[in-house]
Amino acid sequence: MQSQKKLPRTFSFEFFPPNTAEGLEKLAQTAKQLAPLNPKFFSVTYGAGGSTRERTLRAVMDLRAAGYAAAPHISCIGSSRDEIRDILRGYRENGIRHLVALRGDLPSGTATAGEFHYANELVAFIRGEFADHFHIEVAAYPEYHPQAKNAQDDLLNFKRKVEAGAHSAITQYFYNADCYFHFVDECEAMGLDLPIVPGIMPIGKFSQLARFSDACGAEIPRWMRRKLEGFGDDADSIREFGLDVVTRLCDDLLAAGAPGLHFYTMNQAGLTGTIWQRLGL
Ligand code: FAD
Repeated sequence: MQSQKKLPRTFSFEFFPPNTAEGLEKLAQTAKQLAPLNPKFFSVTYGAGGSTRERTLRAVMDLRAAGYAAAPHISCIGSSRDEIRDILRGYRENGIRHLVALRGDLPSGTATAGEFHYANELVAFIRGEFADHFHIEVAAYPEYHPQAKNAQDDLLNFKRKVEAGAHSAITQYFYNADCYFHFVDECEAMGLDLPIVPGIMPIGKFSQLARFSDACGAEIPRWMRRKLEGFGDDADSIREFGLDVVTRLCDDLLAAGAPGLHFYTMNQAGLTGTIWQRLGL
């Protein structure tokens, strides 16, 4: 974790693109509440197979029009080179210079993977077609990606994305700081020198978190699971426990030199804002 300490810290907040006018209005309110925390950028996710193409751009443009820095995510699986070039040209024409570049997951029932198989191909494509126009973030998995053959392979695949031209990385969320420290040490040992910003998932609804975690391979440690299960429908206790655990996690990460934090806000300002206050940032 030594070399990460030298870098300026980056804080960012992630949103998903709303699909209703009320959702957009609520997102504007959430951004307004979080903006005073001075994030480096807000990011907006991109639906599997391009399903939110218009909505992601709309949400990003709304954020920019309100005066905030915003970065769209883009995923390549299921798309052709022409489609991806088109989207990126649209981003460039709209003045966007910052992206989160992902492989994504094929929507169930989709037969064809398209012309890109992995995120490193997307990063290379973006660099090949747009040179240095975009700052490119990629995803990192301290607990390793669920589809990886093994941990070593996953690390080498992460290295491919960095060597293809990624500037920085944001991790999948985790609740065990040691896995992040270990991952960063492994990256440093491979000679990778880029900020790897921990992704932070505040704990709201336990059932939702458990579902997400099963799908994306992020572990909820047994002791946390047992506690959260024990709270049943007691939303206040879940909230208090979650705030406590996640604030301590953020504190430990920053104290050890993590180069910032990226919050998965779920379009809500409450939990993220409270963690922020408790961290005294
Ligand atoms: P990759 O880096 O391509 O890795 C995917 C898998 O393939 C890994 O197991 C890896 O080890 C393996 N692999 C990689 N390269 C190679 C190679 N060259 N040869 C062989 N194997 C290889 N999903 C969305 O749909 N929309 C979003 O907006 C979105 N935002 C995200 C933001 C963050 C910060 C994170 C952490 C994830 C996000 N995801 C999003 C989820 C992501 O799309 C999935 O985790 C997806 O399964 C993998 O995407 P990736 O870019 O990490 O893929």
